[in-house]
Amino acid sequence: FVNAAPNLNAFIETARRHGDKTFIVEGDRRISFAELFTLRDALVARMGMQNGNRVAICMSNRAEWLIAFVAVIRAGGIAALVNSRGAPAELREAIESVTPTLVLADERRAQLLKESGYKGAILKAQDFPETGAAPAEQPSAGANDPCTILFTSGTTGKVKGAVLSHANVVQGLMSVQLSGLMVLHGMAQQYNMTIDELLAMVPQQGSLLVSPLFHISGLGAAFLSPLVAGSKVVLMPRWDGQEAAQLIEREQVTLFSGVPTMFWDVLHAAAETGADLSSLRNIASGGQALPVNILDELREACPQAILGTGYGMTETSGSVSMAVGADFIRKRSSAGRVLAIVDMRVEDAEGNVLPPGEPGELVVHGPVVMQGYWENPEETAKCIGGDGWLRTGDIGIIDDEGYVFIVDRKKDMVISGGENIFCAEVERVIGHMAGVAECATFGVPDERMGEALVAIVRTDEPVSAEQISSAVGQELAKYKIPTAIRFIDEPLPRNPVGKIDKIALRKLWPQLCSEQAGS
Ligand code: ATP
Ligand code: MG
Repeated sequence: FVNAAPNLNAFIETARRHGDKTFIVEGDRRISFAELFTLRDALVARMGMQNGNRVAICMSNRAEWLIAFVAVIRAGGIAALVNSRGAPAELREAIESVTPTLVLADERRAQLLKESGYKGAILKAQDFPETGAAPAEQPSAGANDPCTILFTSGTTGKVKGAVLSHANVVQGLMSVQLSGLMVLHGMAQQYNMTIDELLAMVPQQGSLLVSPLFHISGLGAAFLSPLVAGSKVVLMPRWDGQEAAQLIEREQVTLFSGVPTMFWDVLHAAAETGADLSSLRNIASGGQALPVNILDELREACPQAILGTGYGMTETSGSVSMAVGADFIRKRSSAGRVLAIVDMRVEDAEGNVLPPGEPGELVVHGPVVMQGYWENPEETAKCIGGDGWLRTGDIGIIDDEGYVFIVDRKKDMVISGGENIFCAEVERVIGHMAGVAECATFGVPDERMGEALVAIVRTDEPVSAEQISSAVGQELAKYKIPTAIRFIDEPLPRNPVGKIDKIALRKLWPQLCSEQAGS
């Protein structure tokens, strides 16, 4: 079953059977499953076969993104998914790191790429053809050939492309579906119904597609899963809580999968505008921990919906643990149980396996573990050991019932509104500014965003907070600009090995804030 379609293209092809049903809703546009395949083939005809070539997709969420992805896979290419929120230099760095033959971009990103000095070929979304026949030749990629590349950063602050194979992506999708089937089976038993009877009670499936498509949850759970399942997706070009609440009501959306900040926004918008969220049957949270207060508000506002959560990362092709419904509510601070096809262990700093209940680094093994970082054996070796176990950089506990709890993070990263910010990349920009002697960035709790990035800076010539913000905004995505910046006169505290002591800085932060009002 899990090995049914080792090539992602073959897996995608199964969606043809949904025919003239609506697949994409974007504003007033509606695109059926059949039309998606027509538009895909037209683009493949235009691009030509791309066996093994990289094709970068660099646009915000829109129908052409979905068309571009299935076309690249049909053409046998490797789809490199660029963070559309990136600053020009970031877009260029990510794209150049995988030397693509072609970039598929929206108008805005094409403009930014030109500004950045990018010289390669770009085909704009507005120029995608509507007719044309794809070559009959099928792509030659096998299960273990690369299929897509998603970008992350890291301790060096340099972009890394996580390479997922066809098998990685397909198994990632299947393992979640398998868990879903197990939940359905349990419910069917509980209500003494068949699975078909249960499914017949669910209204026409539709999901709000709000996760950025260049994230694994956007690509897998939000796009490929509904595609194969025959469920419509309602696209939003940019996140807006009020618009999301309206769309849920207008399109009778049944599935809303997102990050906690989005639930916070939608709940507030619905409370303000009276938007009706009662069509929701399924709410899935991921990307960062779901605060218990948001969980409670969701349960109250959408009593008819089944809630679920998962834990995973790009490097594991999506979720590696999951809990849905009663299973989740019973252990509400957990990130669910390890999925069937994944092995997970907890290790101490020396790599010894720890018993249940003891915190340590979560390490993962299985068919969803990525192949490595694109042309970067050093970083790959730091992440995946010779035995194939992947170090997540997350500190967690697995309890005696197999539930995973994420308690801390080893990697110096902040997750704000579902977007990962590696402190090193922001510190590199601030640290290079004239007048800056030392700086550190870290996360502080934030009710809406989960965490907010803040900075402490020591200068030897006057530098203002505005100058720092604008320098970061020039070089990096806007969401990486610290939400607050404070200055310090003494050298930053360091631990015995000479690294900046962020635990001490976090303690110092409230005091600096009360001493220095302002930005
Ligand atoms: P996506 O960004 O596509 O939603 P993701 O957040 O699972 O997927 P990444 O963006 O690669 O994947 O980030 C992975 C990191 O996010 C994990 O290493 C962990 O630190 C954090 N994370 C993901 N899910 C959870 C969760 N349920 N609870 C706490 N932290 C989580
Ligand atoms: Mg994430």
